[in-house]
Amino acid sequence: MQGLMMHNDLLISDLLEHAVTCYGQQLVISRRLDGRIVRHRYEEIAQRSRQLAHALHALQVRPGDRIGTLAWNTHRHLEAYYAISGIGAIVHTINPRLFAQQIEYIIQHAEDRILLVDASFIGLVEQLLPRLPSVEHVIAMTDWKDKPAGERWLCYESLLGEHPPHYNWPRFPTGTASALCYTSGTTGHPKGVLYSHASTLLHAMAACRPDAIGLGPDSVVLPVVPMFHVCAWGVPYAALMAGSRLVLPGAALDGASLAELIETEQCDVLLGVPTVWMGLLAHLRQKNQVIDCMRRVIVGGSAAPLAMIREFDERHGAFVMHAWGMTELSPLGSTNTPTPELLALPKEQRYQRQLSQGRPVFGIQMEIFDDEGQALPHDGKAYGRLKVRGPWVISQYFRSEASAIEQGWFDTGDIASLDAQGYMRIVDRAKDLIKSGGEWISSIELENAALDFPGIKEACVIGIAHPRWDERPLMLVISTDPGLDLQALREHLQAQVARWWLPDDILRVDELPHTATGKLSKMTLREHYAQHYMDPAP
Ligand code: ADP
Repeated sequence: MQGLMMHNDLLISDLLEHAVTCYGQQLVISRRLDGRIVRHRYEEIAQRSRQLAHALHALQVRPGDRIGTLAWNTHRHLEAYYAISGIGAIVHTINPRLFAQQIEYIIQHAEDRILLVDASFIGLVEQLLPRLPSVEHVIAMTDWKDKPAGERWLCYESLLGEHPPHYNWPRFPTGTASALCYTSGTTGHPKGVLYSHASTLLHAMAACRPDAIGLGPDSVVLPVVPMFHVCAWGVPYAALMAGSRLVLPGAALDGASLAELIETEQCDVLLGVPTVWMGLLAHLRQKNQVIDCMRRVIVGGSAAPLAMIREFDERHGAFVMHAWGMTELSPLGSTNTPTPELLALPKEQRYQRQLSQGRPVFGIQMEIFDDEGQALPHDGKAYGRLKVRGPWVISQYFRSEASAIEQGWFDTGDIASLDAQGYMRIVDRAKDLIKSGGEWISSIELENAALDFPGIKEACVIGIAHPRWDERPLMLVISTDPGLDLQALREHLQAQVARWWLPDDILRVDELPHTATGKLSKMTLREHYAQHYMDPAP
């Protein structure tokens, strides 16, 4: 028997109008690229979104068209998110940190008809434009005066000025595509993940919940994670759904700028990748400054090191909440919520538990499998391929014929363990695990151990070819200590990991390469050091 309830297609425009009805006076605080802070009420954001919706119509944008954005976290980018999806078109967020050729490839692959670009990326787009035949217009997200000359170039603010602040959002099925985000493509071409209104809204509902990101009308949320990377982990939707104050940091993501913004605006829920928080902590340490308004610091994208969890807690009274996810999951898969049981544990024990990537958020199911496809026990020890399913998990890449699902599951490419309470722990990315003499070594665990040693700013472990053991770990470290004692570091590691896990060599370096999403670019390093253990010593 069928249930007898309404079939109402929920749309992203409904979310915007709901936010205006209930929290119209709530603020979106945005740092412009010139450093100036601007404040808009939700009501104003919605008015400007509706003006942009009119403008896109006037430019002949049709449902399903892709509109690319190359932009930082600002109120204009937020307005574009709502306007583009609201009219049934697709907001295609482009990561400006990708190589120019990759950006070109992505725009061509998506066939973007219009690009919206922040001032910082105008030069880049001017260069690429001759090779972007699908792009009919470029809207510079600037004030009246700064747009480049040329027929295809339009100015965001002048466009808005030409249109009224009222608009009747169209209705269409909730399964309609709303946003497109490409994975960073560390191997092969970037692949597009196409979100829908339904998947986005369900994800936002799950993300707001107290046991996930935990947002409400009293939250002041700062997504440092960029809106060009998996829709800033869904915060632009979740924050408006919950009526939270939203603080958008613009382009200034260094420790000093973030510290100032967090203090001035009293941000209490913060989201970002570990490198961002390392920058913030280093700045605060150097200035001997304490910020006491931070309640939850949500870390994802890479593993949060123990030293970071400890420092946020001990110096600033902030709880580091590990979250795990990926572009293919919109991105939220699991969170390590501060439950009463966790908070009651003695500190060091609690920090150890905080290293886990947490439990699935409601809506996501997880399972681990061995290479033969057999499900593994949830004993916290066995580890294997992490597979997931849920209503905001990818089913097929954009413009790909093949399904992304195998026997009902999406394979994340991560290796993880699960315990009896549902806690998941990422051991490594499958491609980063090190196979030494037939046994696996986790690069993440070694890095974590190194980061706990005084002065170590960044650590990277890669597996490289070895004449006897197939592969052996090599550790590269950046240290703030000019007299770094590598032998002492080795002894420190030895106390924390099995002896045979110890890197055969530890090298001190000044810099480590990163991917467009801020992760260590291990592929580049593996190539660079491929012969390190193979060449006979001179
Ligand atoms: P890409 O870096 O390829 O663009 P994503 O940004 O979607 O892809 O990254 C997803 C991957 O990042 C996951 O598969 C996982 O390996 C890693 N990751 C995400 N969150 C965490 C976390 N909290 N701890 C460890 N690894 C994480």
